[in-house]
Amino acid sequence: MALTSAAGEDELVFLALGGLGEIGMNAYLYGFGPKRERQWLMVDLGITFPGESEPGVDVVLPDVQFIASEAERQRLAGIVITHAHEDHIGAVVELWPKLQVPVYATPFTVGMLRAKLAQFGGRLAVEIIEVPLGGRFTAGPFDVELVSMAHSIPETSGLILRTPAGTALHTSDWKLDPEPVIGPPTDTTKLAALGDEGIDALICDSTNALREGVSPSESKVGRSLAEIIKKATNRVAVTTFASNVGRIKAVAEAARASGRKLVIAGRALHRVIEVGRETGYLPEDMQYLDQQEFKYLDRSDVVVLLTGSQGEYRAAMARVAEGEHPDVQLAKGDLVIFSSRNIPGNEKAIGRIQNKLAEMGCDVLTDTEALVHVTGHPRRDELKELYGWVRPKVAIPMHGEARHLREHARLASAAGVPSVVTPLNGEMVRLAPGPAAVIDKVPTGRLFRDGRLIVPSDEGPVRERRKLSAVGIAVVSVALSRRGAMIGEADVAIDGVPFETEDGDAMEDVVLDAVDNTLESIPVARRKDHEMVREAIRRAVRAAIYEEWGKKPIVKVLLHVIDQAPTPRRPSPGDFE
Ligand SMILES: [Zn+2]
Ligand SMILES: [Zn+2]
Repeated sequence: MALTSAAGEDELVFLALGGLGEIGMNAYLYGFGPKRERQWLMVDLGITFPGESEPGVDVVLPDVQFIASEAERQRLAGIVITHAHEDHIGAVVELWPKLQVPVYATPFTVGMLRAKLAQFGGRLAVEIIEVPLGGRFTAGPFDVELVSMAHSIPETSGLILRTPAGTALHTSDWKLDPEPVIGPPTDTTKLAALGDEGIDALICDSTNALREGVSPSESKVGRSLAEIIKKATNRVAVTTFASNVGRIKAVAEAARASGRKLVIAGRALHRVIEVGRETGYLPEDMQYLDQQEFKYLDRSDVVVLLTGSQGEYRAAMARVAEGEHPDVQLAKGDLVIFSSRNIPGNEKAIGRIQNKLAEMGCDVLTDTEALVHVTGHPRRDELKELYGWVRPKVAIPMHGEARHLREHARLASAAGVPSVVTPLNGEMVRLAPGPAAVIDKVPTGRLFRDGRLIVPSDEGPVRERRKLSAVGIAVVSVALSRRGAMIGEADVAIDGVPFETEDGDAMEDVVLDAVDNTLESIPVARRKDHEMVREAIRRAVRAAIYEEWGKKPIVKVLLHVIDQAPTPRRPSPGDFE
């Protein structure tokens, strides 16, 4: 049976360029039309953070070469951003020049995007189309309707995508929170109505597919924070994700209720508070002080809210823990609340900061000891509830690592979904008309932002850097005459390699001996083969260092071939005029 449908038939397809098999770097495409004339709509364009094996990388971006190709880009109707978390919006500014299509988003998300563009120097004329909460618009052949979802940032929107070939619901990140601190709860009425209307495919958040039950409400965290802060006797410091406007509001309210002043430390928080006030999620007259005021406040009179809940070494919390913050100092008996979860990969950095604070005598409180954070993603009972309302024919788990996707797929089948597909990034799935199946594969990958440049992940400089970090480098410089005689002495520089052998000899001498011996072993006449000479020296140096150290460093050989210098002329007095 051929899996592809007839070339002329309209179909609705789904394709992830990032976001499947990982939590981060969300970049999804929906396609409509006959095979060779598919029109596309992109949903989200986010980043992910580098792992420990990616030294020096600032952020990781999805490789969008498939949709950025001339042929496909012509048929891309736009990019819809579901919410302003970095894993959904973070790559828009950098990758937009490759795509140059309108960006659709709700007011808060637009505010966050504009703040990013301003940081970028305002050089980019991104066409932004603001859509109201729950609004409906047309982009190419797609009739797009937003569904408000509760999450940990304002205005998260699921998308109902209606096309003549079929309808899909893309949930984005969501949870069922009857009492979110800000914004509307998840629009369950619209979701139930959609189920009655009938839909083909549900593409849904898998982050908490391994966790039983229901995620607690954001307002419970607010009440818990208020109680904890009320009981505190000395300073209270709270760190959280800067984008969590609801949490910012809860901390502000808790501070006010306990008669304390709120101090804000960290640029990202100031930026979010500004956008939150402009869009009405934080009160226009929200009372807070800048960090310079901190030192004038009495110990029992302050709540300071800081950036850096993930252990980011340049953020406010890390600098406070190191005792290096210009304005905020904590001392024995102060309370520090990590109102956040540890994003996998950041545990060590966070642990280091928490221990530094403990060494200072601060009490550190995290979500393992108290209700100071809740997830923004649906647990299993919430997922089941959604499947009950929507009753799709096809389910595709997204926004999860392999284990989450697999468990979510099982849950969807158990919930009665007839067809559950678990594609990987790059695998194109036909959603409708049925049966759902993987029908094509396109190239995907990761790009690294490395300083001011974007570099490839596989063959780029980071691979070499990883190796450097483990074994160091030895650079050897040798000069030969055209005839093959060595001119002067070889020179060597080593970095990240031990300086001395076990016997106390200089490693540089070990290298120089290896160079001399190798050259001696090559007859002068054969030294015209420069590539051979270079490789022979490289191997010999590597082997000599290995012999002493037990590790093989990166070895680079610079071979200079020099025309025999003319016999020096005696200087004459005229040379010095
Ligand atoms: Zn999110
Ligand atoms: Zn997300």
